[in-house]
Amino acid sequence: MYYVSTRDKLQKTTAAGAIAYGLAPDGGLYTPEAIPSMAGNALNTLKDMNYQQRAVYVMSMYLDSYSASELTGYCGKAYGNEKFDDPAVAPVHVMDDSTCVMELWHGPTCAFKDLALQMLPHLLTGALRKEGEKKTACILVATSGDTGKGALEGFRDVEGTRILVFYPKDGVSEIQELQMNTQEGENVGVCAVVGNFDDAQSGVKKIFSDRYFSAELEEKGYFLSSANSINWGRVLPQIVYYVSAYCDLMKAGRLEKGDLLNVCVPTGNFGNILAAYYAKQMGVPLGRLICASNSNNVLTEFIETGVYDRNRPFHQTISPSMDILISSNLERLLHAYTYGDAQAVKGYMEQLSETGRYEVSPGVKKLLERDFAAAYCTDDRARQTIAKVWREKNYLIDPHTAVAVNVLEQYREKTGDVTPTLVVSTASPFKFCPAVLEALGEKTSVSGLESIGRLEERTGLRAPAPLSGLAGKPVRFRNVTEKGDMAQAVRQFLS
Ligand SMILES: *Cc1c(COP(=O)(O)O)cnc(C)c1O
Repeated sequence: MYYVSTRDKLQKTTAAGAIAYGLAPDGGLYTPEAIPSMAGNALNTLKDMNYQQRAVYVMSMYLDSYSASELTGYCGKAYGNEKFDDPAVAPVHVMDDSTCVMELWHGPTCAFKDLALQMLPHLLTGALRKEGEKKTACILVATSGDTGKGALEGFRDVEGTRILVFYPKDGVSEIQELQMNTQEGENVGVCAVVGNFDDAQSGVKKIFSDRYFSAELEEKGYFLSSANSINWGRVLPQIVYYVSAYCDLMKAGRLEKGDLLNVCVPTGNFGNILAAYYAKQMGVPLGRLICASNSNNVLTEFIETGVYDRNRPFHQTISPSMDILISSNLERLLHAYTYGDAQAVKGYMEQLSETGRYEVSPGVKKLLERDFAAAYCTDDRARQTIAKVWREKNYLIDPHTAVAVNVLEQYREKTGDVTPTLVVSTASPFKFCPAVLEALGEKTSVSGLESIGRLEERTGLRAPAPLSGLAGKPVRFRNVTEKGDMAQAVRQFLS
């Protein structure tokens, strides 16, 4: 199977090439030339497998550069070994007769990024071997929180890689900062940047585009690579859990094969919900894909009107991982909806970078309406939703998941659609204790580690071990750099 650039069909590569180099040379995203279909009896077969086996089955449909035994090895390392605190890896919790919640936060960093970032390092190092790359990959990440820790855990002690994460000094939560600065592993580094997330991100981009710096690293035996969410190696592992959830619901007798299942996904960069779209294309009977946003509602407007317009105020919310105005992975959906018309996609992306806005054709708009629905949820409503779900269902959700639960409520009221729905839960509530405590009506303003214990007391639940264990961990990293000195920080890290 070949992968093509969303902006030029002639830019073609193998699965290994797409994963090794991430972005196509023309700036487009590598995307499968065609989405494979599952065999008619596949869901029945997969139903009786465990998560790792399901992952091998689904990923091998896309990765003909890799052997089944390679993928089996990777899946064992990524999802076995008690890396996840639930043997189901992505367990499905039944909330009521028509609503289930897929919990994607049982991994080492307690957010859904683990599902992909535990797998990516293995796919990447495998790809580099296949491409004959001898140098060590130096992975640079700019993070606003969850991705940095997820990438550090994923790449920790993975042979042939070093990883350095930059985060904005005052732009992440105390818990997130501690998660990163206590990271274990011989090949990892963490550095705070004086500035905001954009400063960190621009700094990393600048390093990537500096040819002299690349040459300098090459002499030392390194090349730069990235772990960000536009790499196909991050999208693919996410398709697996949609297939897996459908199988679990069949196995539990909640769905007959062929019954429609809607999904509702808290969305930022459009990676997670895009994976649901691919699962649907492969033949999983998914119905409506409901895109849930916070007050940064650029996607709500896009899905409703066909106009993407990032020229709007940026809101800092209690669901920070969705505070995004440019959803990079949307480009892959446009590729699908224009039937691979690279010129059209390229045109939209050029308009986006020049004016911050584009409007899709009536044909694309129709397809959007066929597959998607969208709504958004303010911080106030998210807090009310956390309180209500705790009160009525005795189930604790984080602010990102609350956005999805509320948007599903809005969708059902508006449309009367009673199709069973899978809500995707993207983070443990214990990752966002102060916001959750406030939602539950606690007035005390405890912060950081203290708030974890406070939320345990308030709910009688236990925080996941990786979070409660932070208290005893030594801080390994205290580096701070000015945004102009990030390249120097990379030199120091590699020396
Ligand atoms: C990254 C993230 C999201 C957004 O996912 P996308 O794939 O970027 O749409 C939602 N919730 C949490 C907790 C996240 O970390």
